Amino acid sequence: MTEKLYYKDSSLLEFEAKIIGSGNNDNLFYTVLDKTAFYPTSGGQLYDTGFINQIEIIDVIENRSGEIRHISNKPIGKDGDIVKGTVNKMRRLRHKQQHTAQHILSQIFIKLFNYESVSVHLGEEYGAIELDTDNITTSQLQEAEQYANEIIYDNLPIEILFVDDEQVSSLPLRKIPERKGKIRIIKIDDFDYSACGGTHCSSTAEVSLIKIIGFEKRKSRILVKFLSGIQAVEDYNNRFAVTDELSHTLTCNVNDLLEKFNKLQSGNKSLKKDLADLQKEWLSLMARQISGESDTINNICYVFRDFSINNDTNIVDTRLANQLANIVAEKINGVAVIFCQEKIIIATSRNSSLDASQIAKHFSGLTSLKGGGNKNMAQLGGASKADLKNYKELLLKYLKNA
Ligand SMILES: [Zn+2]
Repeated sequence: MTEKLYYKDSSLLEFEAKIIGSGNNDNLFYTVLDKTAFYPTSGGQLYDTGFINQIEIIDVIENRSGEIRHISNKPIGKDGDIVKGTVNKMRRLRHKQQHTAQHILSQIFIKLFNYESVSVHLGEEYGAIELDTDNITTSQLQEAEQYANEIIYDNLPIEILFVDDEQVSSLPLRKIPERKGKIRIIKIDDFDYSACGGTHCSSTAEVSLIKIIGFEKRKSRILVKFLSGIQAVEDYNNRFAVTDELSHTLTCNVNDLLEKFNKLQSGNKSLKKDLADLQKEWLSLMARQISGESDTINNICYVFRDFSINNDTNIVDTRLANQLANIVAEKINGVAVIFCQEKIIIATSRNSSLDASQIAKHFSGLTSLKGGGNKNMAQLGGASKADLKNYKELLLKYLKNA
C-alpha cells in the first residue's frame, strides 16, 4: 500500500520516494512508489499530472488494494530506485479550488435553505452539486453565491483532522461517514466539517472566486453548476474576449450590448418583412411581364425564360424562381420554364394536362441534367447557360408531341 502524502498536506508538490513495483500494459507503463503526493482519480476528483524523474505522468490510478499506479509512456525505473516526483502545480490548484468551493457551497445551501448535497461532480469544465430539492430560484442562487464569496474574503483557515469514529459523532459533520476507523475530516474553521479524501486549499482565500453559472432540473433534484478560482478566471477571459470584440464591432459600451443587440434584432425583423413585401410585389410585376412574353405551340401556351442574362439574377434565388414559375404557369394556363442558378425549373398550371415531372424526365433522358418533381413543379440541376438553346428545343419538341 502506498503512503498518501497528499492526505496530510495538499500543498506538497515535490517529494522523494522509492519504487516498489512497476509494469506495463501495451505501450503504457505504471510505477508504484512507497509514498506519493500524486492524487489518483477518486471521490469524484480528477488525478494529478506531473513528472517522476523527468518522465511525464499522464494518469494516476488507485486500485482496490490501495496501490497507486503512476501511468507514463516510458518506464521510470526498477524496484528500489529512489525517484523524485513533481506534481503539476496549476492542475492541483484547480482541483483544490474546485473541491473547496464545493464544500463551501454544500454547507451554504444547508445553512440558507436546508438543501442537502446528494452528489458532487468535479469536472474539467465546471463543478456541480446535486441538491435535494426540486425547485430553486435565481435569487436563492445569487444569495448562495454572495455568501460563498464572503467566506472567501473572510480567509478562513482550512485544516485536515484525523479522528476516530468515536470522535466523529461529536463533530458537526454535514454527513456521517459510513467508514470505520480513522476518518479524515476537512475543517473550514467552524463553518464546515466534512469527511473527505480529496485535496483542498489551506484557506478559503485560496479559492479566489466562486461563480454559480446555472442549474439543471434532474427529476426531483437540482444540479447547481459552478466555477471557481482558475476555472472562473479562464471563463472570464473567454467571455471578455467575446464581449470586447462585440463592443468594438458594434461601437458601444459592454453594458449597452444587450440593448444594441435587441435593436439590431428588431431592425432585422422589419427588414425581413420589407424584403418579403418587396419580393411579393416583384413577383407580381415580373409574372405579368413574363406572361406577356409567352408563345404557343401545339395549342400549349409556354414561356422559356433565362434569368441569368440580366440584373434579375441578383435578386432571384431558386425559391423565388420557383414561385415565379408557378405564378406564370397559372397565368398563362400552360408551362413556364425558368433557367436560374444552373437549374432548370419547370412549372405547369393546375388545369393543364401537362406533367412537370414528365417534362423533367424527358430532359434528363436526353441531357446530363438530373432531378425531378411532381405534376406541377420539377427542378433539374447541372444546367449550363451554353446549352440553353438546346434546352429550349427539347421543350418545344416535347410540347409538339404532347
Ligand atoms: Zn473534499
